[in-house]
Amino acid sequence: MTHDPRGAIELDRAFVWHPYQPTDAWLGRTGIPVVVGAQGEWLELADGRRVVDGFSSWWTSILGHSHPRVVAALEAQLRRLDHFPIAGAVTAESAELAAALVGRAPAGLARAFFSDDGSTAVEVAVRAAFQFWQQNGAPGRTTFVSFADAYHGDTIGAVSVGGVELFHRMWGPLCFATLRAPAPAADEDAALDALGRLLASDADRVAAVVLEPLVQGAAGMRFHSPEFVRGVRELCDGADVFLIADEVFVGLGRLGSVFASSLAGVTPDFVCLAKGLGGGAFPFAATLTTERVFDGFRGGPERTFFYGHSFCGNPMGCAGALATLELLDDTLLERVGAIEAQLRVWLTAIEALGVARAPRARGALAAFDLDVPGGYLADAGPRIAAAALERGAFVRPLGSVVYLAPPLTIGDDALAVACDAVTDAVRAVCVDEAPRNHP
Ligand SMILES: *Cc1c(COP(=O)(O)O)cnc(C)c1O
Repeated sequence: MTHDPRGAIELDRAFVWHPYQPTDAWLGRTGIPVVVGAQGEWLELADGRRVVDGFSSWWTSILGHSHPRVVAALEAQLRRLDHFPIAGAVTAESAELAAALVGRAPAGLARAFFSDDGSTAVEVAVRAAFQFWQQNGAPGRTTFVSFADAYHGDTIGAVSVGGVELFHRMWGPLCFATLRAPAPAADEDAALDALGRLLASDADRVAAVVLEPLVQGAAGMRFHSPEFVRGVRELCDGADVFLIADEVFVGLGRLGSVFASSLAGVTPDFVCLAKGLGGGAFPFAATLTTERVFDGFRGGPERTFFYGHSFCGNPMGCAGALATLELLDDTLLERVGAIEAQLRVWLTAIEALGVARAPRARGALAAFDLDVPGGYLADAGPRIAAAALERGAFVRPLGSVVYLAPPLTIGDDALAVACDAVTDAVRAVCVDEAPRNHP
């Protein structure tokens, strides 16, 4: 099939429904980019332009697009074995990947359960933690502790442990109840105190605490310290409550380490990986856990983990993941340090514009807040995205929070293009045009 990029927008308007997209704003929008190709950190648009992928295609293309080694692995895999679910059979791909993941994970993680995306990776952890206690002597442990502003995916289980008011408020009646600790970014000590009090009074009701270690991503790239993560681990240990680390965004090198928990020196009871795991090309996820949890499902058939997806252990996803882990070597992880240094220089240019608050960088991630009302729905976000696109970078601000999260393989020059594009876009939208908004 050959694609007609000119017809794509018409067909889209007629037939497609987009995620996280105000409908009328979309239908009324002009200048919508049509992406026709991608190589490395560059996106090719139908109008012939190349722009930098400043958000790693929604945090998935950590190795850039069509990395030659990922392509080779996927092509070979597609010819050899396209799919077999690991239901009643073994595949070498899934076995090798589980061993490779465990080999690089914090000591103590011992088993991998495969699924499809970030939401299912979290769902697996939540369901396994719940069932573990049901059949291992603590059936009263039926609830979870989540943090305010947390984002763990969009299925109902993942939303239940999420805490982004705007995204999640509507689904309240559909969700199971959780205990909520305050977001760590505002005041880590207060969040730890509150978690401590919750676990002191209610531990016998709690199956697990769910945390995005080091960065709450979708909440607006809110950082907290490794000490906070360690504090959460200690409180969980004290109450014998599981810790679920959702590394769907922060894992796989984004912060400079394959596992973000390693940066905090903790071993969670569950770690969720997805997004970039399938080589940036396949939806694919893994939930790692300990031998203790795995053992809790041994015994009679009534102790089975009654959970799984059609594409569980999909060999294409495994092949992408094995290539990804091989590529996430010391050289690439060191490169993340150089990206962070360049991003920090960029943030000083952003600060000089006088419209940004809380500039912050960690690994291949940098963000700042604009002083505008509206939060996630602030119209500065789409306006800056449009202005940045004209200047050579595709970005997708979280409303008033503007960030760059480029592929880890990005070159200095392309990163400079993205940084300059966003700086100029912020200047155009927030400095030059600002008087129009405040007459
Ligand atoms: C994106 C994300 C998810 C959900 O992943 P999907 O693949 O979109 O289902 C879960 N947790 C975190 C921290 C994420 O950033």
